[in-house]
Amino acid sequence: MATSAVPAVEGWFTTGDEPRLLGSRCTSCGTVSFPAASGFCGNPACRGRELVPAELSRTGKVWSYTDAQYQPPPPYIPPTDEHEPFALAAVELADEQIVVLGQVAHGYSVDDLSVGAPVELVVEPLYEVDGVEHLIYRWKPC
Ligand SMILES: [Zn+2]
Repeated sequence: MATSAVPAVEGWFTTGDEPRLLGSRCTSCGTVSFPAASGFCGNPACRGRELVPAELSRTGKVWSYTDAQYQPPPPYIPPTDEHEPFALAAVELADEQIVVLGQVAHGYSVDDLSVGAPVELVVEPLYEVDGVEHLIYRWKPC
């Protein structure tokens, strides 16, 4: 039983009942980046240097998806000894319309996905080390 939980990647998402991805927004042109950009705007046509933190949409629609039948290379840490295939979805965020890749929520597979289908952001345990759960964001069909 895990005694505490921390994000597997610091600063990429909030936790709680309504988790959100954390990106950045350029104050000059409004371009949103995920993960957060630092130093300069991700828009090549913009010279903006001021980036502010931005909480991104919790929902989006499936842009593309695939099945990871093979175990990814490190730094991926397998949650079980045997590789269990999992689904990956590229999701277009509702407001920002940028595409964010992520695993699909536990218990769902590519059979539950279709292009254009609505999904929402959830945060689930990725792996556990010494009683500490490490959390990752995932896309849940809804
Ligand atoms: Zn910009």
